[in-house]
Amino acid sequence: MTDTAQTGSHANPRIDAELQNVAPSKLEVRGVCKHFKAFGTGEKVVALEDISLKVDEGQFVCLVGPSGCGKSTLLNLVAGLDKPDCGELLIDGEPITQPGRDRMMMFQEHALFPWLDVFGNVMFGLKLKPGLTDKERKEVAKFYIRLVGLDDFRHAAIHELSGGMRQRVALARALAPNPRVLLMDEPFGALDALTRENLYVDLQKIWSTRRKTILFVTHNIREAVCLGDRVVLFSPHPGKIREEFAVDLPRPRDINDTALASLSAKITSALKQHLGKKEASE
Ligand code: ADP
Repeated sequence: MTDTAQTGSHANPRIDAELQNVAPSKLEVRGVCKHFKAFGTGEKVVALEDISLKVDEGQFVCLVGPSGCGKSTLLNLVAGLDKPDCGELLIDGEPITQPGRDRMMMFQEHALFPWLDVFGNVMFGLKLKPGLTDKERKEVAKFYIRLVGLDDFRHAAIHELSGGMRQRVALARALAPNPRVLLMDEPFGALDALTRENLYVDLQKIWSTRRKTILFVTHNIREAVCLGDRVVLFSPHPGKIREEFAVDLPRPRDINDTALASLSAKITSALKQHLGKKEASE
């Protein structure tokens, strides 16, 4: 990541205006529930029960819990990809009824287009962006590719990249339309520890300059404490919020920091308690 990537300076004021960070949004989830029918048996699965959560503008909130506790379901509802069975979800006070460019999603599986190169993938998110010429979109794409540290790989094919680099492309693609909210579903879950550590460092740097409201799903408590302002604990069957922890550690944070490890241990033990005898997976 370079400093010029963060500040940007172009002869074209329209590009400079586009690269200005938009104000992050406030999210509110009020009494939300969501049911599914289980595959095969058809039994009712309560994915989410009475979920209420407020996320302030620009906050980084991590949703933590074992598989099946409804974290991804909640992210999908905030993304507008699905609708709740009860309750409501609001963005800046307005009901969420459909997906929008104000909320971009990033997944564990990089979900990139293998037939496009790095540049093509980042351009894809900008295709329908109104008010920019194709040439201007290209400048915007270059800016975000530089921001995630892939300037030298702009024309690399996706299959030539490591897992970490692919997630950097996915991050650039999600950031390029300049969303107000970033929804991240275990984005680093498939990466090795060292690659993840590098991404924690860079994601913190990027978030400090391109401030977004972030909802970040993970089952890795240490990762949540390293990144989040708040860690929200979920438990499954039914998917419920059990407890919440504020993370008041100074930034940037190092995943190997002892204070971070000690808060992670406290949260892990709380999760184990909530899960009863079940193993807390981290
Ligand atoms: P998490 O992200 O915490 O692992 P999910 O939100 O993916 O949890 O799932 C919560 C529960 O809802 C799980 O029991 C899962 O099997 C169920 N579920 C999620 N999506 C569907 C679906 N489309 N159809 C049926 N069941 C689903």
